[in-house]
Amino acid sequence: MNILSPRRLQGEESFEKSLRPRSFSEFIGQRKVVSNLRVFVYAAKERGESLDHVLLHGPAGLGKTTLAMIIANEMGGRLRISSGPAIERPGDLASILSSLEEGDILFIDEIHRLHPSVEEVLYAAMEDFALDIVLGKGAAARDLRIKLARFTLIGATTRYARLTSPLRSRFGIIERIDFYPEEEMQEIIQRTCRILGIEIDQEAKEEIARRSRGTPRIANRLVRRIRDFAQVEGDGRITGEIARSALERLRIDRYGLDEIERRLLRVLVEDFGGGPVGLKTLAAALKEETDTIEEVHEPYLIQKGFLARTPRGRVATEKARSLFSPFQSLF
Ligand code: ADP
Repeated sequence: MNILSPRRLQGEESFEKSLRPRSFSEFIGQRKVVSNLRVFVYAAKERGESLDHVLLHGPAGLGKTTLAMIIANEMGGRLRISSGPAIERPGDLASILSSLEEGDILFIDEIHRLHPSVEEVLYAAMEDFALDIVLGKGAAARDLRIKLARFTLIGATTRYARLTSPLRSRFGIIERIDFYPEEEMQEIIQRTCRILGIEIDQEAKEEIARRSRGTPRIANRLVRRIRDFAQVEGDGRITGEIARSALERLRIDRYGLDEIERRLLRVLVEDFGGGPVGLKTLAAALKEETDTIEEVHEPYLIQKGFLARTPRGRVATEKARSLFSPFQSLF
């Protein structure tokens, strides 16, 4: 188990559910995105129409599912949740779509992973609210068009560039969710502690915010773990001292880099002279998947200024080089 994974870990569902903001006003940060969505939602409601299809893209754990749930709440529609890999055949999607009612919201997570034959069905559904099916085979085959209820599709993806352009063009609203700045992470940590009934001081909030990779999912998970240390080794309050010592024992460095990222930077700096190195070469040296590196590790390393992407490959920055100087401590 990787405590710094931005993806939901097994058994975390009910903990996450208890912490999910339920309205736009409860949702912290992403102000531009939220204010846009608010306008679109209220305008559609006022006109008595369903909302345009929405695409939310950005790294995992930043609130895409939460926003989909909030939109459904605010629109007063039912929410149906599925994901790209879960919809295996065109028939699976057809059966989901035909069960939708006027104003329902269909959320498809990891929408870039839809099978092309499934995606094809989605085009007419999104554009014309229709389902095209072929009855029979060969010369006797007939086309049949079934009307669907006007629903709203909310797609979420961590890989915007992977989306085909016909799919992309069918979303009326496209919003990018980015890593949260530290001040907003502190607010999220404060809210989590309030809901869980934990006392936390300012120093601890700063400490956890700094190391949780701008990702609410990770911050919440860290609070939960550090609470155990506070309970057993302190008086239950999360103080700066408890937070620091717990984070150190969880092997989380002061930049929130995980094991793979530390290795990646070390390999890049020490074995490849700082780069440029191609992604495939780097992945092979690390024995990691190129997809995971591109989707999870690189965005964070780039955002923190440790790594740069150039046309000739990945390059370590001065900041990354300084990490491996003998005088620098990661913790
Ligand atoms: P994603 O779908 O992008 O992977 P989720 O919506 O599942 O992320 O969010 C992960 C967890 O982080 C949820 O438990 C949610 O409560 C919390 N969270 C995400 N964004 C926020 C936010 N802006 N404010 C408070 N909590 C948040």
